[in-house]
Amino acid sequence: LDDPRRAAAHRSYVDEWEKKINSFVQIDPRPGNGEGALAGVPYGVKDNIAVKGLGLSCGSKILEGFISPYTATAVERLEATGARVYGKCNLDEFGMGSSCENSVHGASSNPWDPARVPGGSSGGSAAAVAAGLVPFALGSDTGGSVRQPASFCGVYGLKPTYGAVSRYGLVAYASSLESIGILAGDVDTCRQVFDSIKGEDPKDQTSVPWEDRSGESSSRRIAVLEDLSDLSPGVDAVYRKSLEGFREIGWEIVPVRLKTLDYVVPAYYTIATAEASANLARYTGIRYGYRAEGEDHADMVRNTRSEGFGHEVKLRILLGTYVLRSGFQDQYYGRAQRIRTLIGDEFSKVFQGAEMLLMPTFPVAAFPHGESGMDAFQQKLADKFTAAANLAGIPGLSIPAGMDGNVPVGMQLLAPAFCEERLFSAAREFL
Ligand code: GLN
Repeated sequence: LDDPRRAAAHRSYVDEWEKKINSFVQIDPRPGNGEGALAGVPYGVKDNIAVKGLGLSCGSKILEGFISPYTATAVERLEATGARVYGKCNLDEFGMGSSCENSVHGASSNPWDPARVPGGSSGGSAAAVAAGLVPFALGSDTGGSVRQPASFCGVYGLKPTYGAVSRYGLVAYASSLESIGILAGDVDTCRQVFDSIKGEDPKDQTSVPWEDRSGESSSRRIAVLEDLSDLSPGVDAVYRKSLEGFREIGWEIVPVRLKTLDYVVPAYYTIATAEASANLARYTGIRYGYRAEGEDHADMVRNTRSEGFGHEVKLRILLGTYVLRSGFQDQYYGRAQRIRTLIGDEFSKVFQGAEMLLMPTFPVAAFPHGESGMDAFQQKLADKFTAAANLAGIPGLSIPAGMDGNVPVGMQLLAPAFCEERLFSAAREFL
């Protein structure tokens, strides 16, 4: 984008698409200085990841006008490779949602069919990559927010192993579940970006030194779920086709059962809302963003939070405080944590007999906007395939696998922690 004529041509291409998909909330190409592997490559950053000097709205009115005073580690590491931030991408408020409709900036749309949602919560990042506005974008995945929009928009979406990528500069929603992830138009870009951002960071105590555990396995066994119900006919067809596809390229299919799968959604929404209620307590109108009028201090804080947060965020804060209320932690939060352990154990068993697990990313393809789409409760129930990996801390890669009518369908590959290389190489083979 250094050549002004090319930059202008690119910008008019972007503006044309943006009328249809609204994937960016701010476009402000940053100068690059690096000479590295990604020199000059522009990319999008989900607007809950900090870039110094740019807004950091998290899709919320409560952060109106806030400009980030610092830059996330992942973005800093990309800067060192020469890649440049192109702008900030739309999202569901604080990462809460599956449609990119819960945003103060308005909904984003799916480039394949703008009457449909791009998925969420990293919907802006996925739509921008799918429309070819940027070759890759950063997103965040707490319960599927990178993989599900990747699946809806026909791009690759990686949720890394928990702790493999620093969360410094990612605005917290549910800290024990989330990870910065990557949306990219091709596997190699996804891998290259992951290589650039992974590894320990002194600014994030939960980050760990990278250590590749993929190993030199020649078993070529891939686990699949024996009893998969409630997939839409379109997703079911792509799932079967993908299974056949892996068989054809020499993978042995191992049917397994995941008994804990039905408990993923209740455990995820208990833990995620509990953590959200604590993480979102900092938005009081005092330190940053929007501030409402009020008769006294308490009244001002109440009004700020009432006016600043959207409906879905309020619902989750209330649910989170409910599950944590004194005397009841064991009934909800404690049980959810025990289920979480069981889910992790069950995955470990699966990976004793197979290198990877293949599952649909989401039970349906991109749904229509608004009333005729999925309601907020149905969307939550549909998170079971994606949120399982967040509860277990393992990596997942959603890969484009087929079409359902005029919109793409993704399948996700899951592997043990620190086995991202297995996912990349299988995805490359599957191409
Ligand atoms: N659909 C999930 C939710 O609404 C995804 C969240 C995420 O990964 N940020 O919580």
